[in-house]
Amino acid sequence: MERLTDKFGRQISYLRLAVTDRCNLRCQYCMPAHGIDIVDRKELLTFKEMYRITRVLSELGVNKVRLTGGEPFVRKDFVKFLEMLSFNDKLDEINITTNGALISKHITKLEELGINTVNLSIDSLNKENFAKITRRDVFDEVYETLEALENSSMKLKLNAVVQSGVNTHELIDFIEFTKHKNISVRFIEEMPFNGTGQRDTKENWNYTKILETINAHYKTIIPLQSDKSSTSRNFKIEGYQGSFGIIPAFTRTICNDCNRIRITATGLFKNCLFDEGVFNIRDFIREGASNDDLKKLFLSIVKEKPENGFIAEANRKKNKNVTESMSTIGG
Ligand code: SAM
Repeated sequence: MERLTDKFGRQISYLRLAVTDRCNLRCQYCMPAHGIDIVDRKELLTFKEMYRITRVLSELGVNKVRLTGGEPFVRKDFVKFLEMLSFNDKLDEINITTNGALISKHITKLEELGINTVNLSIDSLNKENFAKITRRDVFDEVYETLEALENSSMKLKLNAVVQSGVNTHELIDFIEFTKHKNISVRFIEEMPFNGTGQRDTKENWNYTKILETINAHYKTIIPLQSDKSSTSRNFKIEGYQGSFGIIPAFTRTICNDCNRIRITATGLFKNCLFDEGVFNIRDFIREGASNDDLKKLFLSIVKEKPENGFIAEANRKKNKNVTESMSTIGG
């Protein structure tokens, strides 16, 4: 089998597929209060197109898919799409990133479909603070989902974007939350991907500052061995059931082992979160491309994968800085 390999010898095995650019929340670090300019529905990839793209990629060595968005569960028939994907025997893992507000009723079905991991975005454990961050009053629904996921067979990871002065006082609360729970909480460095390109930060809460803050609180922090291509550096507090990780999304210190590609909801292929998109797969398919054409295309465009996120950003031609919302990029 021919495999997707970039010019640095990295094998690409993980696809992040955004199934929509729409979201039911308005998280401050992701978009303005009035939302973002969503695209016309017919510009979105159809589920059939997504299935086909995923199948072709899986025949080139992609064995994991993460479904994201926007909020994947706002797209009608998303669960049916998961069912379609679950028939792809070349996929070892189907994972989902979600804000959880709409999914508590789907948990049993997700288990039946063999979904591997759910990353639940929850930026505060405090109802009022959560509402301030997300600009929506849905903490109870999200918490209900968290509990249902905790009691399910799926792996659960909590994602919290660390926002200076907004939830930085909750870092220890998050770790304490996992003391008796087999859950991993991951702290994500905030990126300026909020529709304005500016980071509204008082202090720079990067990887080092997050780790130093946690270190100052606990006597023993044990580094954990992670998969080579893991997006986070992971740790455990001695005696705690859960673990925590830090994702250096903005300082980009772990690009070397990246094995990921992204496809946005409009079919834009991205080799890196920070690039401006390499090729529109949707248009190529709608112009009549065959599966062989798609294979050839994928094999050639991954060769353009930049060495790291800084190079990807420097290579941008239109907007030098990333100004899009993560909801458009596909988080
Ligand atoms: N709606 C889903 C959710 O909330 O998980 C999936 C899409 S969301 C864009 C995916 C992830 O991107 C979430 O964990 C979110 O917190 C993260 N994210 C969004 N904007 C970000 C930013 N500016 N910096 C860092 N992470 C961000």
